[in-house]
Amino acid sequence: MENVIIIGSGPAAYTAALYTGRANLAPLVLEGELSAEILPGGQLMTTTEVENYPGFPDGITGPELVARMKQQAEKFGARMVSKTATKVDFGTCPFIIHCDAEKFETKAVIIATGANAKYLGLESETRFMNRGVSACATCDGALPRFRNKPVVVVGGGDTAMEEALFLTNFASRVHVVHRRDKFRASRIMADRVLANPKISVEWNSVVEEILGNDKEGVTAVRLRDVVTGSTREISCSGYFAAIGHKPNTDLFRGVLEMDETGYLITQSGSSKTNIEGVFAAGDVQDKVYRQAITAAGSGCMAAIDCVRWLESQEH
Ligand code: FAD
Ligand code: NDP
Repeated sequence: MENVIIIGSGPAAYTAALYTGRANLAPLVLEGELSAEILPGGQLMTTTEVENYPGFPDGITGPELVARMKQQAEKFGARMVSKTATKVDFGTCPFIIHCDAEKFETKAVIIATGANAKYLGLESETRFMNRGVSACATCDGALPRFRNKPVVVVGGGDTAMEEALFLTNFASRVHVVHRRDKFRASRIMADRVLANPKISVEWNSVVEEILGNDKEGVTAVRLRDVVTGSTREISCSGYFAAIGHKPNTDLFRGVLEMDETGYLITQSGSSKTNIEGVFAAGDVQDKVYRQAITAAGSGCMAAIDCVRWLESQEH
């Protein structure tokens, strides 16, 4: 029987592991096993420089930051396993978490399964996946196929801005395709994009189709102007989806309360879910802030809530 199982492996999970570790709970962290849906270490594994995590005035790479968090949690007794939670039974205590055929029993659970990149859902996205289609410029942008060629980034948030700016290091031109006439991104990121001479913004436009062939992969995208309805093609060797994320909560559907977009609902000012002893932290329950520091902060909250709850059960 475990004291607490933490499901996930980003800043929220590792911070919760650090705090519950220091509280002598010997937390077990199910980090997830690498697959199409699971990226152990979380979203920061797909980024290069993190400039806004306090304590690193010169910046730090995403993977390095995550590795340090993990190391710090392990120092205080957190145990990491590369397993993916595939089913949960939170009906009675002890809670049961299944990882395929294996199952774990625990007194408390902290959910920190984060979120994954979304795609538009075009058949051509699947057809040209890894042959010009990507959701991670920082992972794929330096590949030869994108060098000195035009590329397209879809989206108007911070991710799209960051991806577009990063791609200017390699591509001959970056077209940011946005469905509205105003970016959602933070002012500083949007201004950097608008000031960059290698970036053009295709306002009020959506990608109707990604064009290409089996030999070359992506060669162009067809855009539709949402105001006039007219269509046009832009030649490109790459298409980067940067339209947001889907919380990893399918596992908890019908078990825990979630909003209409699948984010777990926690009680205001705490990490408590609708089931006592089950807590949630990070992007899986946060569609507003979605930052490494807020994920880490809520991981800390979940750990403190969990420690206090376990103590209250003993008394
Ligand atoms: P995540 O980082 O999403 O990690 C959750 C992980 O849990 C998953 O990756 C997976 O490995 C694991 N998991 C999921 N399901 C299961 C399961 N069933 N069983 C076991 N494990 C599971 N924020 C900043 O503050 N600064 C930045 O510069 C910055 N840059 C970013 C750049 C990009 C490209 C992206 C996509 C995001 C960026 N963010 C940045 C946001 C930041 O990465 C996230 O807010 C943060 O990583 C969320 O942490 P998390 O712990 O909630 O979850
Ligand atoms: P956001 O949800 O902030 O933005 C998604 C963008 O994609 C929006 O502009 C949205 O358009 C557009 N979009 C969504 N669905 C579609 C669709 N079907 N078709 C066309 N366009 C679509 O997600 P991000 O991933 O950009 O950012 C997530 C969080 O991570 C944010 O909190 C952000 O601040 C943070 N982050 C921070 C970074 C940093 O600080 N350096 C870097 C990267 C991310 P619309 O605006 O019309 O809704």
